[in-house]
Amino acid sequence: MQDYKAILGDIHRDLSSKTNKGQVATYIPELAHIDKNKFGIHLKTIDGFEFGIGDCYTSFSIQSISKVLALSKAIALIGETVWQRVGVEPSGHPFNQLALLEVEKGIPRNPFINSGAIVIADILLSYLKNPKDDFLRYIRDLANDDSIGFNEDVALSEKITGFKNYAAANLLKSFNNLENAVEDVLDFYFYQCSIEMTCSQLNHTFFFLANKGNCLLNKSRLTKTQAKRINALMLSCGFYDEAGEFAFEVGLPGKSGVGGGIVALLPNHFVITTWAPGLNPKGNSLLGMQSLEQFTTKTKLSIF
Ligand code: GLU
Repeated sequence: MQDYKAILGDIHRDLSSKTNKGQVATYIPELAHIDKNKFGIHLKTIDGFEFGIGDCYTSFSIQSISKVLALSKAIALIGETVWQRVGVEPSGHPFNQLALLEVEKGIPRNPFINSGAIVIADILLSYLKNPKDDFLRYIRDLANDDSIGFNEDVALSEKITGFKNYAAANLLKSFNNLENAVEDVLDFYFYQCSIEMTCSQLNHTFFFLANKGNCLLNKSRLTKTQAKRINALMLSCGFYDEAGEFAFEVGLPGKSGVGGGIVALLPNHFVITTWAPGLNPKGNSLLGMQSLEQFTTKTKLSIF
């Protein structure tokens, strides 16, 4: 077995000393005051080895990473029907870009850009009895951890400033691709994005996608094929308009969020999570991406 502790220790030490730590997201005011020196990494392998380093037990806002969990719940509820309302192609544009949505008549390119995630939120709103509670229950069950929760201040902060998301939702509504009221869909979406987790909790939550759709307690959450589809989407669309760069540098399916978190996984092998709040110009965690590049290079473990 590889000496993961030594490898992660070296990566953490090396990157902690870097002076350029990127810029914390400021467009959601509640995220603007997060300390950009925070830096955690957590690894869990399929055969049960688990190791975390740095700030891996401090909670952060998972933001767009929640889009993967929302999609997996939507697929569990309505299966392939999801793809009638959202595409599966990378957008090559920033996560909140609107022009494509207008050109492509209200069918978002993929479920991980904001407009696509808003359509998925609409599906969950239509099919869940108590949408916020049921979605949180789903995530707590995946992680086997009832301490995971929403951060209402972050949700509210985004509600007050989320003009582009309101624009996207209104466009979707104008193309008949939202069933519920714009306000209700966005309320759910902002709460979904405000979920907080530590690197360790995030790792446990995503374990099912490395484990053929089966979560920690080995309960089946998705079929093997559904897990494959979600992993494929993370590879092609998980890093805004830097998905190609992430595949090139790291070579793993994954998803980032503007809170500075990244989750990446090698199916049947491991899940690795990082949190470093400073972002690069494309909105991905600067040290997170560098950590994962070093990890797959040093261990020679990637999908390629
Ligand atoms: N809640 C954020 C938004 O809608 C998510 C962005 C992200 O993490 O990429 O802008």
